[in-house]
Amino acid sequence: MGETQTRVLVTGAGGFIGHHLTSYLKRHGYWVRGVDLKFPEYEATQADEFEILDLRRWESTLAATRDVHHVYNLAANMGGIGFIEHNKATIMHDNVLINTHMIEAARQNGVNRYLYTSSACIYPGYRQSSTEVVPLKEEDAYPADPEDGYGWEKLYSERQCRHYWEDYSLETRVVRFHNIFGPLGTYDGGREKSPAAICRKIALASDGDEIEVWGDGEQTRSYCYIDDCVEGIYRLMRSDYREPLNLGQDRLISINSLVAMVAEIAAKRIRRRHNLTAPPGVRGRNSDNTRLRQVLGWEPEVTLEEGMRRTYHWIAEQLAERSAAEAAASTIEPQLRRAAV
Ligand code: NAD
Repeated sequence: MGETQTRVLVTGAGGFIGHHLTSYLKRHGYWVRGVDLKFPEYEATQADEFEILDLRRWESTLAATRDVHHVYNLAANMGGIGFIEHNKATIMHDNVLINTHMIEAARQNGVNRYLYTSSACIYPGYRQSSTEVVPLKEEDAYPADPEDGYGWEKLYSERQCRHYWEDYSLETRVVRFHNIFGPLGTYDGGREKSPAAICRKIALASDGDEIEVWGDGEQTRSYCYIDDCVEGIYRLMRSDYREPLNLGQDRLISINSLVAMVAEIAAKRIRRRHNLTAPPGVRGRNSDNTRLRQVLGWEPEVTLEEGMRRTYHWIAEQLAERSAAEAAASTIEPQLRRAAV
């Protein structure tokens, strides 16, 4: 079958990665159905069809997976460390329902390829206790000690994919993302991740201001730009590799250094105030990309500086537009009230 005839479903298509993936698949000639609880927040979807459905419900997953060849299942109730630390029961409840119903509905509707988006949060805490952490290989996932709540759910759903292949021959692909960031992602409201939160705080700060940093800021991570993420997802889906695969950058950086990088991009002098009561997450986490290179013959290419530059400028523009709109509303409102009297 030619690519132009392939019909795909992207769940979570109103969210950050799902929206970018939808645009990518459209550029590659696919027919795309997007499904989510909400439409994309920052620009219109390019999906051929977009349905608002609650995928915790069995009937919705059956409707979503009808007449498609491939499923990219990205829908999840999730957010940054602050959100996943404080919403464990809801996250486990919602995501187990979404994934259990989605994979079974895909099987019943004869879908021939199913991709599940897992996370670096499945890796054991005991391998992430120092800032100079050894990069995580796929087989390091066991013996299991994942992030409580969110990570356990991801690990459970990974195994579901394995068993649907073993028992039903459903072709499953599992990708483990390591901190994906970029424009068109959530940057406020409590679900944002560290790169977006740092960009927002610095965009709102004046030269010489202080911003809050969670923990002592020495915790380390690696970050992967969104364009590389969707390229990697697509390559994995087309490969014949059925085991979980890391998808991330393997350049380790501390939160404090990330703050310094964004401050330089913004051309502002920024001081840090460390909030030691906020959840900092694991001490260090990095991706070992050996298998990624072997399986996909490729690895993420966009540098952290370039990705952060694009992300910072997008967030700064959003905030500037929002404050201009608020200023305009505050001058129009009294006029309207006066006119109504
Ligand atoms: P996101 O929150 O922007 O997108 C997830 C989308 O799922 C949201 O638009 C949400 O409305 C939708 N959703 C939630 N519950 C739903 C329901 N019941 N029915 C239908 N839709 C529902 O998150 P994202 O960053 O785009 O993440 C996409 C996937 O990648 C998720 O599975 C996430 O766990 C995984 N992941 C992301 C990262 C990252 O760094 N962004 C890291 C690891 C794993």
